[in-house]
Amino acid sequence: MLDAVLLNGYIPRNNLFSIKGERDLELTKENHSLFKANARQRAWVEVNPSTIENNARNLRPILSNGCLLMAVVKADGYGHGAETVSRAALDGGANSLGVATLQEGIELRNAGLDCPILVLGNLIDSAELLACLHWDLMLTLSSEREALLCQNLADGTGRHFSVHLKFDTGMARLGCHLEDAPKLIEKIDQLSNLELKGIYSHLALAEEESYCELGSVTFHQKERFESVVRNISISTKNCCFHLANSAGTLRDSGLHYDMVRVGLALYGYNPLKYSSAEVDLKPALSVKARVTLIREVASGVGVSYGHAFITTRLTRLAVVSIGYADGISQNLSGKISVLFNGFRLPQVGAITMDQLLIDITDHPEVRVGSVVTLLGKDGNDCITLQEWCDLNSSILWEVLCGFNQRLPRLLI
Ligand SMILES: *Cc1c(COP(=O)(O)O)cnc(C)c1O
Repeated sequence: MLDAVLLNGYIPRNNLFSIKGERDLELTKENHSLFKANARQRAWVEVNPSTIENNARNLRPILSNGCLLMAVVKADGYGHGAETVSRAALDGGANSLGVATLQEGIELRNAGLDCPILVLGNLIDSAELLACLHWDLMLTLSSEREALLCQNLADGTGRHFSVHLKFDTGMARLGCHLEDAPKLIEKIDQLSNLELKGIYSHLALAEEESYCELGSVTFHQKERFESVVRNISISTKNCCFHLANSAGTLRDSGLHYDMVRVGLALYGYNPLKYSSAEVDLKPALSVKARVTLIREVASGVGVSYGHAFITTRLTRLAVVSIGYADGISQNLSGKISVLFNGFRLPQVGAITMDQLLIDITDHPEVRVGSVVTLLGKDGNDCITLQEWCDLNSSILWEVLCGFNQRLPRLLI
């Protein structure tokens, strides 16, 4: 058998993969499927749906009586895969789904999910609004303009728009002005083609503040929310009031009302910096990649772009085929480690678009093809998302949804 290494990279066609110890494969039509990219070929994300299901289930006991649970699955389920997490969350007792965009809502309908879905982002033109009607997606209204557009669009179709009115209580982002909310609620009530399914607002600082005490921003938001809710003049029998994200949900049941919108906690992370409710939440995601090359370099050699790392001894480097295009921020360069058999191996030099390097000088057991864990458990150790956030002053949400589509999602 030919030794591929001696051939200096050139392998005759009929000897492809004919390397010592490997099975002989020929590039024939019959075994063509063997040459397709395998999900574990390079780098991937592992997601455990039953962990998500348990997180949803474990949130239920802390919700106030009768409170509904909306699973927020925007940004492809915070990088976990929207369809997977939607099904898991519903199995765990979630009552509805929240997405950010129309496209995300349509994708869930196409995947066969038929539960209530609310689009949390603003939709502005007729085509988008009509799509909501077609796909039976609830939409968020922040202004009278869109309310009137909906009224006109539904005329003669015999169908109703299901809408949630959003108003601003201290975020200055989406939602109508606090002072305009009562009038807009009455207006929507008069529009025959609109069904008001919810009234909501969004918290700006719930994870930051030490407690929902008097004078905190969250306290003021709660007061403003209730000032509108208390004075609604229309019948709100089928209308659901909601304010809390994960942080609001975990910090104070006084923020629960009829429904909570939970994203981060569903994925197993507690955003509260201070006190927290007793909920068993476990991360459901880990990130793994393969070593594709090992090289030995002398002391004093500059490594990767910019030569930010220079070896100080004879060093064995392993190339791991994952990079910032996959969601491993280059701000983490030289700061993180990867796990191999429970050992932490330091990442060195700049993280590049598709590769990063680790120092394996002390670990000769690492081989070409070895799998390393960038995030998650291996052996008795675990690299947490919070570690990464602390190293590069990022936030849990951003790192999660940064895991690129190029990484296959494997369900375990
Ligand atoms: C993203 C989002 C949530 C979920 O926030 P988490 O902090 O991830 O729980 C809730 N409500 C709205 C309006 C959102 O956009």
